[in-house]
Amino acid sequence: MPKARIVVVEDEPAIRRGVSDALRLSGYEVTEAGDGAIGLREGAAAGVDLVLLDLLLPKRDGLDVLAELRRTCPTRPVIILTARGSEDDRVRGLKMGADDYVVKPFSAKELIARVEAVLRRTMRPVPEVRLVRVGKGTIDLHRREVRWTCGTRSDLSETEAALLRYLVANKERAVSREELLSRVWGIGTAGLETRAVDMHVARLRAKLKDPAVADDDQVEVIVTVRAHGYMAGPALVAREDDP
Ligand code: CA
Repeated sequence: MPKARIVVVEDEPAIRRGVSDALRLSGYEVTEAGDGAIGLREGAAAGVDLVLLDLLLPKRDGLDVLAELRRTCPTRPVIILTARGSEDDRVRGLKMGADDYVVKPFSAKELIARVEAVLRRTMRPVPEVRLVRVGKGTIDLHRREVRWTCGTRSDLSETEAALLRYLVANKERAVSREELLSRVWGIGTAGLETRAVDMHVARLRAKLKDPAVADDDQVEVIVTVRAHGYMAGPALVAREDDP
């Protein structure tokens, strides 16, 4: 597993230092943030694998930081650091999409165990899919080409192949544009045009049209989910065997 990058957002200097030191000792790369504003900036930065988030923070409240992180980096894992007795906040945090919480005072051992458990879950690579059937055609994601029974072939760009692989690997659910940007392009989405995703989907749809079939009879390969994102259509089927 690559060395994970963790942002520690905590205004209490002693706790922040203790947590950061324990994480560094366990081999993690750590960025410290002493208030909610810096926490949000660092937590939303590209390449961050996990955010440890205190809730009572100066400048910007922890739950507010969490809401903003969920909007800009929907898949970024967050563990809430919470004081004993503040159960309402903990529940609200989990409902808002935090991955886990740790109650203060906690031991370094307990914290590291929680961090490892969340990272094991979230740093899982996208399942490997090589061949995808689409109507009478086959998509080879390794060779990045589409082959039709009539003999026509077309090539896919690296991004198009990665986008298709992600949609097929998550076939049973709709995937938001933000998630696609973060998981396929590997970037946080703060201030980024999600229209880039739409453009790539349009190009993919054009390339996945069976040349031997009339426009009206084409199968729906990528379904648009209104106000959210996209989903692999029923016509896309991952296959195990070689054609
Ligand atoms: Ca605090």
